[in-house]
Amino acid sequence: MVENIKMNDIANKLNLIQQFAIEQLKHWGLTGDYSNDWCFVWDKSVRRYGQCRYNKQEIGVSKHLVKLNSIEESKDVVLHEIAHALTGRGHGHNAYWKRMCIKVGARPERCYKPESKGGNVKTVQGKYNVINKDTGEVYYSYHRRPKRTDWSQAWIQGRKRETQGKLQVVANTPNKSESPYRLQV
Ligand SMILES: [Zn+2]
Repeated sequence: MVENIKMNDIANKLNLIQQFAIEQLKHWGLTGDYSNDWCFVWDKSVRRYGQCRYNKQEIGVSKHLVKLNSIEESKDVVLHEIAHALTGRGHGHNAYWKRMCIKVGARPERCYKPESKGGNVKTVQGKYNVINKDTGEVYYSYHRRPKRTDWSQAWIQGRKRETQGKLQVVANTPNKSESPYRLQV
């Protein structure tokens, strides 16, 4: 019997954040109007937790970082990006944006601080990554070598066919030229 390492929890977390994002976009009037119709998308970024893409009218959130972090942290990222969508291009993280953050309930902070620097955000900077042997895609990251030693039968929830028998634990070699200190949001 294969134990399915917390995969259900992770799937629930992703669903919850996606639902939250959709609800919040609606709540703040960012959907439904032809000229102002935003959507929520997942992306595969490992460094950027969230991104507001004005030209596409979409809010992208990193699946990897949502998996790693608490629901509260991820909700804050969603609201942070909603504040960007509401203030519009050109305001960046200025005072107007900060006021909008307070209005929507986001922390009016420009960036997230990783745990490694005393902040709250877990980053994909662990010493060990669980990757797909074939594609190199990173599914999980750990600071200690995972206790599981046999990955031959494990899979990623919802992606069994493409991931079963493909998972491998590898030592992570972060790119030193990129500072892990600040996560862009
Ligand atoms: Zn931002």
